[in-house]
Amino acid sequence: MSLLELRGLRKAFGSHEVLRGIDLDVAPGSVTVLIGPSGSGKTTLLRCLNALEVPERGTVRIGDVTVDFATRPGPAALRRLRARSGMVFQAHNLFPHRTALENVVEGPVYVQGRPREEAVAAAHALLAKVGLAEKADAYPYQLSGGQQQRVGIARALAIRPALMLFDEPTSALDPEIVGDVLRVMRDLAGEGWTMVVVTHEIRFAQQVADRVVFLDDGLIVEEGPPREVLAAPAHERTRQFLRRIL
Ligand code: ADP
Repeated sequence: MSLLELRGLRKAFGSHEVLRGIDLDVAPGSVTVLIGPSGSGKTTLLRCLNALEVPERGTVRIGDVTVDFATRPGPAALRRLRARSGMVFQAHNLFPHRTALENVVEGPVYVQGRPREEAVAAAHALLAKVGLAEKADAYPYQLSGGQQQRVGIARALAIRPALMLFDEPTSALDPEIVGDVLRVMRDLAGEGWTMVVVTHEIRFAQQVADRVVFLDDGLIVEEGPPREVLAAPAHERTRQFLRRIL
C-alpha cells in the first residue's frame, strides 16, 4: 500500500488553475522526483501535501491521515496532515536568533510537546547525521548556505515525519556546496526515508529516484522510473523540457 496517495487534487489562485487534477501514489521508502517547467505547479503540489496551501478539491492521504479538501477541513485536520511530513524549503528558513540546536529542537518541543531533554539528545544525533555535530551552538549567520540547509533538513527530520518533502533544496546554493546537501539527501534515501523532491538536479534524479514525475501546466504528463521518463520519455512535452535543461 502506498504511503502517500493523492486523488483529484485541484488548486487555483483566483481564476488561475495551477493544479488541475493530480493523482499520485508514493510507495513507502521510495524517492519521487518532481520535474517540470517553471510555473507548472511543482511547488504548489508539494505545499498542498503539507497543507501550506489548501486545495479546493481532492484528497491527500499520508499513512493513516486522510484529508478530503472538498469538505473544507478545519485547522485540526490540517495540523494532523501537516505533522505527517517534514518540509525542506528552497532557501533555508531557520530562526535567525536561535542556534542550530534550538532550531532543530523547536518542532519536537514547542509543536509536539516532547520532553526537552529527549528532543535535545535527538537533535544532537540529527545534527551529527547531517555532518554538523560541532555546529550545534552556531547561529545561522555563522553557517554557510549549505550548512544552513543541512540544519533545515535536520529540523524537518526532528518531528519524525512519515514523509520528507524537499522544494528545490539546492537551487539557492553555490555550486560547490550543492553536493554536500545532495549527499545528505542520498543518505536519507539509503536509510529508507520516503521522499518527494522538487529539483532540477537531473543527475540526482537519475541516481536516486525510484520514480520521476513530469508535471506540465498543472497536470502529470508522465511518470515512471528514471530510465524511462528521463532516458526514453514517451511524451513530446517531456522530451522538449529535458532538451532545454540538459
Ligand atoms: P513551479 O514550482 O512548477 O515553478 P509553482 O507551483 O511555484 O510552479 O507555481 C505555479 C503557478 O502558480 C505559477 O503561475 C505561479 O505564479 C502561481 N502561484 C504560485 N503561488 C501563488 C500564490 N500564492 N498566489 C498566486 N499565484 C501563485
